[in-house]
Amino acid sequence: MGPGPSDVHPRVLRAMSTPLVGHLDPSFIDIMDDVQELLRYTFRTDNQWTIPVSGTGSASMEAAIANLVEPGDTMLVPTNGYFGDRMASMAERAGGDVVYVDAPWGEPLDPVDVQDAFDQYQPDVFGFVHAETSTGVKQPDVPQLTEIAHSHDAYVVADCVTSLGGVELEVDKWDIDVAYSGPQKCLSCPPGASPLTLNDRAMDKVLSREEDPRSWYLDLSLLEGYWGDERAYHHTAPITNVYAIREALRLVAEEGIEERWDRHLRVANGLKAGVEAMGLGLNPEDDYWLPSLNAVLVPDGVDAGAAIGYVLDNYDLEIAGGLGALDGDIFRIGCMGHSAQEKNVAFLMSALGEALE
Ligand code: PLP
Repeated sequence: MGPGPSDVHPRVLRAMSTPLVGHLDPSFIDIMDDVQELLRYTFRTDNQWTIPVSGTGSASMEAAIANLVEPGDTMLVPTNGYFGDRMASMAERAGGDVVYVDAPWGEPLDPVDVQDAFDQYQPDVFGFVHAETSTGVKQPDVPQLTEIAHSHDAYVVADCVTSLGGVELEVDKWDIDVAYSGPQKCLSCPPGASPLTLNDRAMDKVLSREEDPRSWYLDLSLLEGYWGDERAYHHTAPITNVYAIREALRLVAEEGIEERWDRHLRVANGLKAGVEAMGLGLNPEDDYWLPSLNAVLVPDGVDAGAAIGYVLDNYDLEIAGGLGALDGDIFRIGCMGHSAQEKNVAFLMSALGEALE
C-alpha cells in the first residue's frame, strides 16, 4: 500500500508465464490490437494513437514530451510536486524553454494562475499532473485548464500515472491532447509497458516536426511503423509485459471502468474514515483529495520513518513517507488497483494504530 507498484493480480502473474512468441507473430499482433482497444476504453478515448510504450512510466512521459516539444517551443509546467520537475527536465532536453506555474506542494493548480501564466508566457505546450503521487493531490478543474490552453493554441499533456484505471479520467471529454501513464499503480501490473495516447491534433504536430526528436527509441513517427497499420519491426516489444498489461486491462474491462473508479473511492473513503477516527487528518482538502494515494498527516512528535519501518517489519506492509517539501509531514498510503480492498484497509489500520501507540 505504498505509492506503487501495487499488488499484481494473480491472473496478471499467470499471463506473464505464457510462452513467448515472436513480436511479429500473427497471434501477438492480435494481442497488440486487444491492448490498444482496451487502453482506449480505460483512457476513455477514441484516439487512434494509443499504445503501450516499452519502458516504465518515465518512458511514456518522455515519449509525450520529447515528441511534442520542438527546439524553441516553450513548455509550461507546475511546481506543486515532484513530477513537474521531471517534465521540466525532459522539455529542456528536448530543446524547449521551460516556464512555471506555481502552487505549493500539497495543493492543486489554480486555473487563475494558469490563465495568468498563459497570458504572460504564451507557451506552446502545457503539462500538468492529474494525480501527483508525491503529494496525494488530484488536479480538479481539468476541463477549465484545457480550455485555457486551447484558447491559446497550446497542447495539453496530462500525467495520469497514478490516476489511470483508478480515478475518474476522461481524456476525450476533458479535451486532453496527450495523456501518459504507468501500469504499476491503479492497473496493478508490473512496470515495463506504459500507456500513452495522443489525439490527431497532437499527432499532426509530432508528424510535421522540422527536426527529428532527439531520441530514436521514443520517436513516435518511427513507432508508428510497429503500432500503426504496418506492424513492421522497430524494436523487440517486451512480449511478457504486453501479455501482462493485456490481462490487467481485461480485468479493468470486466469490472467496468466506472465501477472501478467507484471501488477506489469507496475503499479510500474507508481508509479516510479510519485514519480520521484515529485522530489523524489527510493533508489535501476533500476537493482535491486523491483516493489512489492518501497523504495522511504525521501527528506531532511522531517519527514518520520509524512508524513506516514498524509497519514493514511487523506487518510486512509497505507504506511511504513524504518527499521534498512534505518530507516528514505525511505518510503516503496507496489504494491502487488490486490492493484497493477493504480487508487491506482494515489490516493497515491495525498496523498503523500499533505503530503510533
Ligand atoms: N509520474 C508520476 C505521477 C509518477 O508517480 C511516476 C512514478 O511513480 C512517474 C511519473 C514515473 O514513472 P516510473 O517511475 O514508472 O518511470
